[in-house]
Amino acid sequence: MPPTGPVRTAPRVCPLCEATCGLTLTIEGTTVTGARGDRDDVFSKGFICPKGASFGELDADPDRLRTPLIRVDGELREGSWDEAFDLVAARLRPLAEEHGPESVGVVLGNPNVHTMAGALYPPVLLGVLRTRNLFTASTLDQMPKHVSSGLLFGDPLAIPVPDLDRTDHLLLLGANPLDSNGSLCTAPDFPGKLKALRRRGGTLTVVDPRRTRTARLADRHLAIRPGTDALLLAALTQVLFEEELTDPGALAGHLEGLAELREAVRDFTPDAVAAACDLDAGEIRTLARELAAAPTAAVYGRIGSCTVEYGTLASWLVDVLNALTGNLDRPGGALFPLSATDRAPRPAGPGKGFALGRWTSRVGGHPEAKGELPIAALAEEIETPGDGRIRAVIALAANPVLSAPDGSRLERALDGLDFMVSVDPYLNETSRHADVVLPPPPPSRSAHFDFAFNGFAVRNQVRYSPPAVPLAPGSMDECEILARLVLAVGGMHGADPSAVDDQVIDRTLGKAVADPLSPVHGRDAKELAAALTGPGGPERRLDLMLRLGPYGDGFGADPAGLTLARLADRPHGIDLGPLKPRLPAILKTRSGRVELLPPPIAADLPRLRAALTGVPASLVLVGRRHLRSNNSWMHNVPTLNGGSNRCTVQVHPADAERLGLTDGGPARVTTEAGEITLPVEITDTVRAGVVSVPHGWGHDRPGTRMAVARARPGVNVNQLLDGSRRDPLSGTSVLNGFPVELAPA
Ligand code: SF4
Repeated sequence: MPPTGPVRTAPRVCPLCEATCGLTLTIEGTTVTGARGDRDDVFSKGFICPKGASFGELDADPDRLRTPLIRVDGELREGSWDEAFDLVAARLRPLAEEHGPESVGVVLGNPNVHTMAGALYPPVLLGVLRTRNLFTASTLDQMPKHVSSGLLFGDPLAIPVPDLDRTDHLLLLGANPLDSNGSLCTAPDFPGKLKALRRRGGTLTVVDPRRTRTARLADRHLAIRPGTDALLLAALTQVLFEEELTDPGALAGHLEGLAELREAVRDFTPDAVAAACDLDAGEIRTLARELAAAPTAAVYGRIGSCTVEYGTLASWLVDVLNALTGNLDRPGGALFPLSATDRAPRPAGPGKGFALGRWTSRVGGHPEAKGELPIAALAEEIETPGDGRIRAVIALAANPVLSAPDGSRLERALDGLDFMVSVDPYLNETSRHADVVLPPPPPSRSAHFDFAFNGFAVRNQVRYSPPAVPLAPGSMDECEILARLVLAVGGMHGADPSAVDDQVIDRTLGKAVADPLSPVHGRDAKELAAALTGPGGPERRLDLMLRLGPYGDGFGADPAGLTLARLADRPHGIDLGPLKPRLPAILKTRSGRVELLPPPIAADLPRLRAALTGVPASLVLVGRRHLRSNNSWMHNVPTLNGGSNRCTVQVHPADAERLGLTDGGPARVTTEAGEITLPVEITDTVRAGVVSVPHGWGHDRPGTRMAVARARPGVNVNQLLDGSRRDPLSGTSVLNGFPVELAPA
């Protein structure tokens, strides 16, 4: 049915990638019929990409579930919300009581970081469940960075971001922001910022085995052998020491372990790493000298340097280089954002530090990192009998059947569960195994605030979008879905969902009024709770965080400070200024200093040293990202699934000729763990010895309800992996740089 009703516009921050662009939605009646960049948005200033422009299409996808699904006699059938939560309460809580908290596994998918519900409720759910079986998308993409930040700075969330607008020299490794729009670095119009860097005379170096669109923009492109970024970074560090080019500047008094670091990288000379990286030693030296000589510089590494065998070492060395060149925590270098919902800054001093491996997984003995276990270990935790076996799974916006290694094994494991609940708008490759599927409403019908991405933003700012369209009859807000889930598993099934928010508010305020450093120290918590505003519990919690945050009004302590009401009055957001130095106050290490050579890193360096003399595989696989894709959940939008966004294996012409492959013909990619067959795309944008397959595809499994994705299913690259290849410090799956064989199919 065509949309009807009056036409209006509404601002809305885009939830489709980490760039968080402001959009102006055109709405006819209750249907979003268009989206354009919001020129008045304080952060994105009108930028939009094809994904954001398809917001309306995604929002109105006819395949989105509108009512809960409940399994009856083996079939998923539509049911009421009450029936769905009754079943969750009846099955999950008794199961956890009988078999213990670890019998429930929680899986959090990437879209959780794009919603208010995904930020506010999973911590409460985990607190109620008390399970240590937590698995998230982080061990498929970014856990190495959390671990390196935890070890260096004492806080896994203290991730410095490149100061894109002011830097003179940017070194990007394994990142393709022209297609991804950035990750762990929230920067609307990342492409425009790179072009501006070039225009103001700055230097852009890109290290990537593919000549990506970003690499084509660079002054220098180093087509490194995949998986060896840590060796290159270690060599850059070695050159800085050898040629006396280190100059930490204002950081000097805050660094611990400088002499030990110098000793630790002594072997990693450019000559020693050149063969493994397949780079010229002279070029590595030149790069190190240029980094040191630049007035300001920033090193930034992402997926291609992270989801590899030495992902944590590479992530650590990125910030080591920033520190040694004096660029950590200075304008133009790499700085720590200060989000409006961060804790207000505290005086500097020693902290609790960051520990790895406080517990291990039951079957494989994998150490936890940041409270999480490797998602690649989920299947074995379900399959293997014994005390503590996972018997039930709660999957929130997660599709690990496609996103984690060996989805086929995981599917079999999910079928063996006693109970599973998915919160997901789609009946997809994972949710189809659930006993209950709880669908959140489309994004236009939810309020939006970026709790996660403001903490990685290249400029401090704050924006809030109320729902652009009211909830449809019969649907339920995602915050309410998750609050009811908390109540159902926590023995309060049927209580008012606002009880969950009230408990969090009471607990937070109770701590704040007892804290001598808080602006509300000594005040009455009940009175403060009554002063919170907002249409519901989630907004009241947001108001609380803003008011106690670094820009907040402190409940009257700073009358001009931030509140949700003030923010809501500014629909295009509030600019909070450029990033500023935050050291040493941000440090939570035991020493109160930046710990340059933490013991777990030092203990892992021999593994990297062994890579200097290893024999490289003749053919390795890397992933790739397309501008019109993010993860599996966007493949059901017609304008995003098509054209050049194709699931092919890219092969260099020389390899194609050697292997007898033809452009467009089918090829079989094989590893020790599996094989896939897909069309060949011959291109010299991948270096010889490397093939590239995108992720998130493989929509040909039965029982899903995603018609567009099924029509162009592609194949799932993770079927080439069995999950045994991992970065040991972070538990992150090796998704890039693993050996494959390739042949005509
Ligand atoms: S770059 Fe990301 S946030 Fe911006 S419009 Fe595109 S998908 Fe949305």
